[in-house]
Amino acid sequence: MFKKILIANRGEIALRVQRACREMGIKAVMVYSEADRDAKYVRLADEAVCIGPAASAQSYLNMPAIISAAEVTDAEAIHPGYGFLSENADFAERVERSGFTFIGPTPESIRLMGDKVSAKQAMIRAGVPCVPGSEGALPDDPVEVRRIAKSVGYPVIVKASGGGGGRGMRVVHTEAALLHAVQTTKAEAAAAFGNAEVYLEKFLQNPRHIEIQVLADQHRNAVYLGERDCSMQRRHQKVIEEAPATGIARRLIDRIGDRCASACKKIAYRGAGTFEFLFENGEFYFIEMNTRVQVEHPVTEWITGVDIVRTQIAVAAGEKLPFTQRQLEFRGHAIECRINAEDPYKFTPSPGRITTWHAPGGPGVRVDSHAYANYFVPPNYDSMIGKIIVYGDTREQALARMRTALAETVIEGIKTNIALHRDLMVDASFVAGGTNIHYLEEWLARRER
Ligand code: ADP
Repeated sequence: MFKKILIANRGEIALRVQRACREMGIKAVMVYSEADRDAKYVRLADEAVCIGPAASAQSYLNMPAIISAAEVTDAEAIHPGYGFLSENADFAERVERSGFTFIGPTPESIRLMGDKVSAKQAMIRAGVPCVPGSEGALPDDPVEVRRIAKSVGYPVIVKASGGGGGRGMRVVHTEAALLHAVQTTKAEAAAAFGNAEVYLEKFLQNPRHIEIQVLADQHRNAVYLGERDCSMQRRHQKVIEEAPATGIARRLIDRIGDRCASACKKIAYRGAGTFEFLFENGEFYFIEMNTRVQVEHPVTEWITGVDIVRTQIAVAAGEKLPFTQRQLEFRGHAIECRINAEDPYKFTPSPGRITTWHAPGGPGVRVDSHAYANYFVPPNYDSMIGKIIVYGDTREQALARMRTALAETVIEGIKTNIALHRDLMVDASFVAGGTNIHYLEEWLARRER
């Protein structure tokens, strides 16, 4: 096992990885920007290295600075967390070329999955169901493009091969609008992602977002850890996640989970990963794979009892997965609310100093956060300051515990979205379960009026 790991991230996930290291008897090195210098999780680390100014381009995205920090501290492996460099194949490659272990998949896997056209083709070959659409990138010939769209059937969505973070997508309802939409998306994609390739697929009208967590080792073992329902989104950003997904039969999950695990074996995937699907009329349609640990991993940890971060570290060190698919059991229900430093009505970021911080507790309550009273939320990064995750034997119990947890939580000095979560936890449709990916935005629009 590694003796020392460098954590190339910040905030709650940096603390989460640090906790896993501590538990495993591994020394943790934190890198930090000038904006995070005084954060407690940085002080808690065995060693800490400043890698640059607040701007992430000069710190958390600064590959040479991160690699030298690993050299100076004699770390053996680098955990990239999520966001920042976690899905950057060049970074993974540079880490390994410099003689460190990248805690994640191979650069080849990251590259394959990072390009949506190649990812989709690999999934089709591996037998994972995808949204019907063009076979690969769209050709230049307008007649061909029209023919493809017609055979898929309107509405369609034009997506950039190199897109991400909800950018580089355009919905097209009629043939008249098609060619212009393709041209615009291509131009935008070339400018934003340096890759003009676009493809086209059927636009699903009212799907749910259901994702499958996988874990794979370097010995061709792969398992799925069940699903997460992440349909509660605003502007393609997840707000609430839960496991299991209400109203989807276990045998459907097992079937798709099995496909995902066998796809991992086919592409020689290693580490943690997530297959994201749209789910409509009882069918799963693959949209993308995330080749890293996700924000919402705790809900899966709670219903399976598996420590995902610890397992990521173990398999990166070459260990075999400590369990088989048959040994995994899914028990109870878990819900996560992302706590953001933002206005709960206008959603404008609300950085600044937290004056009061009272976190919830009690049975079935977990808080993953790097914040505390007197912590200053820097304006430079994502507004998420933590997550409240609850567990219950049933969804009803989990909902009740989340209501209590949110009622106990007091955060003052900055604005947070806790009021929004309190409202959603008593919303009749959300409480009934199974809402689709448009529900939250429709709910917000109704609230405005
Ligand atoms: P990104 O990498 O930018 O997150 P995704 O491919 O994951 O892109 O898509 C982001 C979101 O866009 C999905 O969660 C869904 O809301 C919407 N979307 C993508 N493809 C489709 C589709 N074929 N039909 C309907 N909605 C889609």
